[in-house]
Amino acid sequence: MKWNVHRGDITELEVDAIVNAANKSLLGGGGVDGAIHRAAGPELKEACRKLGGAETGEAKLTEGFDLPADYVIHAVGRVYRDGKHGEAEELENCYRNSIEIAKEKGISSIAFPAISTGIYGYPLEEASEIAIRTVYELTKDDDTIDKVLFVAFDDKTESVLSDKLEKIH
Ligand code: ADP
Repeated sequence: MKWNVHRGDITELEVDAIVNAANKSLLGGGGVDGAIHRAAGPELKEACRKLGGAETGEAKLTEGFDLPADYVIHAVGRVYRDGKHGEAEELENCYRNSIEIAKEKGISSIAFPAISTGIYGYPLEEASEIAIRTVYELTKDDDTIDKVLFVAFDDKTESVLSDKLEKIH
């Protein structure tokens, strides 16, 4: 199966690229962003500094440095307000732009965290629906990307992502 939910720490995955739930500065932060920067080492921050930040929904590529993954795709998540301020579209853009970069780079395996569902406060059900639907649609007819992992760091995320994935195909 091309799409799987994986329970664990995204920084440990031996895939071509892991996606980071970054902020606009791209210089690191809390949650999965902090974990990725710690595991990748200080060279990641140096590389990120050269990118000059990014807008919400945008994604930019760096190497993975000390990570087992070759690359990190830094996608800027959307802070959730009330769902009526374009949140869904901007969260969708995170996944869309990450997949676009992966395709351009010829990446065959990619892992996503549950972008925006932590510090950024996006409701888990809605965010998971967007993640699974967007990535599925953009990869189902693609021959380059042959493995997609949706990474869950806790029980609830694992169960919601698994549920959404089961329903899509
Ligand atoms: P955001 O600011 O986009 O909300 P967070 O890092 O706060 O990002 O949370 C996004 C998701 O990443 C949450 O489900 C959180 O539990 C999860 N997470 C935190 N650390 C890791 C990790 N090392 N590997 C995978 N997922 C993680």
